[in-house]
Amino acid sequence: MNSLRVSVARVACLSLLLFTISIAVVGQNQPLKIHYRLAMPHPSSHLFEVSIEVERPADSNIDSLDFQMPKWSPGRYAVFDFAKNVQEVSARNVCPPGLDCDLANPPITRIDDQTWRVDAGRFKPSGSQTIVFFNYKVFANDLSGTFSELDSRHANFNGGCLFMYVVDHKQDPALLSIDPPKGWRIINGRTDRADQRDWQFPNWDIMIDTPTEVAPDWTEDDFKVDGKDYHVVVHSLGNDGGKRRALVGDIEKIVKAETAMWGPPEFDSYTFLVHFAADGHSNDGMEHLTSTQIIMPGKLADSGMYEEALDAIAHEFFHVWNVKRLRPIELGPWDFTRPANTRGLWIAEGITNYYGHLMQRRSGLWNDAKLWATLAQQITEVENSPGSRLMSAEESSLSAPFIDDAPHAQQTNLANTSISYYPKGEILGVVLDLLIRGKTGGKASLDEVMRRMYEEFYLKSPNATYYLRGRGYKNEDFERVTSEVAGADMSDFFKRFVRGVESPPYEDAFAQVGLRFVRQPRQPVSVGISADENDLNNFKVIGVRPGSPAADAGLEVGDTINTFGGIKLMTGNLLKVVGRYKPGDRVALTVQRGARTIPLTLIMGPPQLMDYRLEEMTNAPPEAKSLRAAWLNGK
Ligand SMILES: [Zn+2]
Ligand SMILES: [Zn+2]
Repeated sequence: MNSLRVSVARVACLSLLLFTISIAVVGQNQPLKIHYRLAMPHPSSHLFEVSIEVERPADSNIDSLDFQMPKWSPGRYAVFDFAKNVQEVSARNVCPPGLDCDLANPPITRIDDQTWRVDAGRFKPSGSQTIVFFNYKVFANDLSGTFSELDSRHANFNGGCLFMYVVDHKQDPALLSIDPPKGWRIINGRTDRADQRDWQFPNWDIMIDTPTEVAPDWTEDDFKVDGKDYHVVVHSLGNDGGKRRALVGDIEKIVKAETAMWGPPEFDSYTFLVHFAADGHSNDGMEHLTSTQIIMPGKLADSGMYEEALDAIAHEFFHVWNVKRLRPIELGPWDFTRPANTRGLWIAEGITNYYGHLMQRRSGLWNDAKLWATLAQQITEVENSPGSRLMSAEESSLSAPFIDDAPHAQQTNLANTSISYYPKGEILGVVLDLLIRGKTGGKASLDEVMRRMYEEFYLKSPNATYYLRGRGYKNEDFERVTSEVAGADMSDFFKRFVRGVESPPYEDAFAQVGLRFVRQPRQPVSVGISADENDLNNFKVIGVRPGSPAADAGLEVGDTINTFGGIKLMTGNLLKVVGRYKPGDRVALTVQRGARTIPLTLIMGPPQLMDYRLEEMTNAPPEAKSLRAAWLNGK
């Protein structure tokens, strides 16, 4: 048994001095003083060391504290169970500064897959506050917008996978102190002084919204737009090809185009954290309130990497407004014991995707042809996906935990049954924008819908929770504001194309701005199979399109097609072999299925896959041409 030697008189005196009374008591939970410390003494071990110091006020009735690792983190909606990388958990009780006492280390019980309970109560010195230190390590070896990486080159972390919250106290202020390896410098979107090592956050949610880079060799370039400070931090892990300065200049063009649409952003300072990972696989972009993480797989010097980085930046910076501040009602504060369920990701992500592309044209980085090709490619992706006829934009949003980079232990049919809310939301965005411009003769647009939503739900609504200014919207709110801006009842659009699975009226929408929407069969016939492109010398089936000739013939994923009409079929010669036939032709196949070789008969079908493109109408009326100019220039 441990003994306690505390002077009651000194405790009472110290309590008055040390216990900070917080006026903003949220709910029933008296705020705690919570101090996170992050250390990384052995970078090559990939182990971050986290210590959470919780000070219980003197009159606290809290006997135990639950520390919980989130199952996922905002911005990516698949469940990853960050607790799987937690190790070496320990806790100790510490006397308040200046007190002479000897406390036993509190017992820890793991109560479920994500929660550790520290039973600190019974050792609390009567009448005093005590401090509980909760310590653990986290293995981190992934450079991404969701996970974290610690290695000999740098630490790059996203707080959601590192920092447990104290259950019922996510809303309490959190102090973070970072202890970097010698010579490594720390930067994040809330850095406001050189050599900063401590950050005070209003709550845990904002702390984990602040990804941080710690390394000896990142570079920073700054610019100002409308009096706001922008920082471009580049950690280039390969040759930058001398393109760094140009990259900063082009980011500034994107910032100018997007702030021109929205008006000045709310922040004073914003940081682009850009990695050129040069590892061939790390590839991500993630939005935050005052920063973004952009991670490119190649070197800045590589062909195309510069353009891909700007494409990601145009998307992520648009999130400053759409999703980070103007947000679906379910997006914050969150319950991290279960996945988030929202019907609004086609707006939050899909419409952001649309504007990410449009803004590259408005900023002058893209020409018209590049925008036409990109929009047509999004339409091609959606219209050729069988899942697009089964899954609506709202359902796609609700399916995010399954389709947003989610790992699957069991085989799924999602390739045939789902559609991503990114391209689906993007095509709904462009069609809605052009229809509103057409209906109002150019007086209104989707730009106006987005601005009105931002004003109503973010700027002018009273705060609904501790988390952030304003309140979240429901899809019905977006529908109402769209109808108000369009000056017409838009409910049919939402019923058929947002909650329903019909294709939106592309021809009509693009005609408003003098563009012809053209569809063309990709091949004269269809089979409905896709092959493993890593094995060019065989034809291993990795996809069978539902309702296709291949499905009707009984082909299965995993089959190897040996011969097709008597000819050896390979991934590389499919188009040539299939091109000999016309719809209705019967073709004999030999198929290897496990140990068996089986004969099948396939009846060639009419074209199923289409390619879409946009062409300028040479005879477009002047009104359409002026609507197009306004659309492209943000008027
Ligand atoms: Zn780095
Ligand atoms: Zn996004």
